[in-house]
Amino acid sequence: MTGLPERPRVRITNTAHFSAAHRLHNDARDAEWNRRIFDKCNNPYGHGHTYALEVTVEGEIDPEKGWILDFKDLKHIVSERVVKVCDMRNLNTDVPFLAGVIPTAENIAVKVWDELAPAVPSGARLVRIVLHETERNKVVYSGPGIPKGSQSSPTGPQGIPA
Ligand SMILES: [Zn+2]
Repeated sequence: MTGLPERPRVRITNTAHFSAAHRLHNDARDAEWNRRIFDKCNNPYGHGHTYALEVTVEGEIDPEKGWILDFKDLKHIVSERVVKVCDMRNLNTDVPFLAGVIPTAENIAVKVWDELAPAVPSGARLVRIVLHETERNKVVYSGPGIPKGSQSSPTGPQGIPA
């Protein structure tokens, strides 16, 4: 393709919401450690959030269609793969793609990436996931293999590796 003029590359973002319960707890550590590290978030009865999920894909504008991907199709992928699976669920027990991880916002963002990346049609690629756990706290994940420093560094508790 060298020598041909490049088509404009753009990014489009779909934002979706889901409400879910979770409890931060590391089964490999004792109760005292879990209370000390996770504090209120270790409450045995869990607690809930309304998460906002921003999913951004990038691609070249198709000259015939004028878009890289129909917004409707991006919304459908996010809805089927994440929202319907997580909404009104317990993230510790009910969501197959979160099995075995502590459902911190960090871990959820990484697992959501793994769910969505293979579903993005050819011609577009997933470039960014932003998961807002509260109005003040969010996680940004730009996928595996991104050099350190170009994405936010997690400051919360570390989860169990997948
Ligand atoms: Zn929480």
